[in-house]
Amino acid sequence: MDPTYLSYLMDPSYRRLSGSLSASRCPIDRYLLPFTHSMASNVRPRTSLKAARFTESVIREMTRLSHQHKAVNLSQGFPDFPAPEAIKAAACDAINADVNQYAVTWGAKPLRDAIAADFSKRYGTPVNPETNLTVCCGSTEAMVATMLAIVDPGDEVIVFEPFYENYGPDAVLSGATPRYVQLREPEGKGDWWFDRDELRKAFNNRTRAIIINTPNNPTGKIFDREDLTEIARLCQEWGAIAVTDEIYEHILYDGAVHVPMATLDGMADRTVTINSVSKTFSVTGWRVGWTIAPPDIAGAIRKVHDFLTVGAAAPLQEASAAALALPESYYRELASSYQIKRDRLMGILKDAGFVCFEPRGAYYIMTDIGAFGFPDDVAFARHLVSEIGVAAVPGSSFYHDPAAGRTKLRFCFCKKEETLAAAQERLTRSRAALQAPRAGVTH
Ligand code: PLP
Repeated sequence: MDPTYLSYLMDPSYRRLSGSLSASRCPIDRYLLPFTHSMASNVRPRTSLKAARFTESVIREMTRLSHQHKAVNLSQGFPDFPAPEAIKAAACDAINADVNQYAVTWGAKPLRDAIAADFSKRYGTPVNPETNLTVCCGSTEAMVATMLAIVDPGDEVIVFEPFYENYGPDAVLSGATPRYVQLREPEGKGDWWFDRDELRKAFNNRTRAIIINTPNNPTGKIFDREDLTEIARLCQEWGAIAVTDEIYEHILYDGAVHVPMATLDGMADRTVTINSVSKTFSVTGWRVGWTIAPPDIAGAIRKVHDFLTVGAAAPLQEASAAALALPESYYRELASSYQIKRDRLMGILKDAGFVCFEPRGAYYIMTDIGAFGFPDDVAFARHLVSEIGVAAVPGSSFYHDPAAGRTKLRFCFCKKEETLAAAQERLTRSRAALQAPRAGVTH
């Protein structure tokens, strides 16, 4: 077998990503068949090695399964309640005003000005809208454009795990070799944590970047100033870039504070801050996000972004600028309404027998399902969606080695009270069946 191809298949991240929900979509089947054929007939496979190394998103697949089974969807992180009236009106106004053509490729000026002013005012670190900012199609494009702009094949990128699943394919697409550092489960009432030695050992001459997501999906961890200072010190020692996904910046609980990595001493010059309007303004479908980066990196991101997408939707960029002008009370109400939802879902899940890790930020609850005795997280998620009618995300989709997440399941609570109540009703009704003794204990 072709050694390049073999090395792709043997890569653990490939094996993680091949462990998808439906066996028929497993890339090993999809890819090996044409490959076997090619050995015989000397015809090359029609899909790339890169594309063969990851599956469709498990999170988004759970939404499809949820529709199929008419389940209550607590899998994919999108709100099912309306966005603020003022910003919807701003979007309509922009279309009516014929803001219908391409915006400047790195972002419409009113939006870049609004983002720069907001970050500078909130955190005291200046952002120049002309040289630091690139508006992208959501944080999703912002992250992949950043990776393509800073990583050469063979460079290493450190990723904390469990991680938001997009980072796996982003690494594959950019040719990065991921190195994983474990976030460990909270002890008592503490937060998820990482071992400083393990992190230090992950850095080396080939480390190009480290991805940090705070507040974190799926754990709800907040990287505090102490965590970030340690990471910053290592970035400076090894000449690495910090790429920070801060999309849940405003969704914080119990008085927690968000510290952007770019505000630490010496870090503005080696940090790419990624954010978007998706979560803060409940408009995940608008696809407006951005990067804040030092000018040389911003220049590279702008070029990649230009040829990937040209630009985000022009009228929605205008409306996003209006969103950033909402008063501070908007952000306070957002956080307090999510805290109520967090506490509500924590109660529902605990009553149903889940072990819950209380999040400090973002809008997910990571749970341990070991006590239910299912063979693994995927079997449990399938049972939950098809038999009980509640969709959640298998924990293995957040780990490069699926075994590490096989007793975990993630629920989201960015939902209306009626939705949470419907989940409660279904879980309560099925509590006895769910907790019935099973042979396949997973711990
Ligand atoms: N980053 C994280 C950590 C997320 O949880 C999500 C969505 O769930 C995204 C990025 C995607 O953001 P966007 O809608 O801005 O592309």
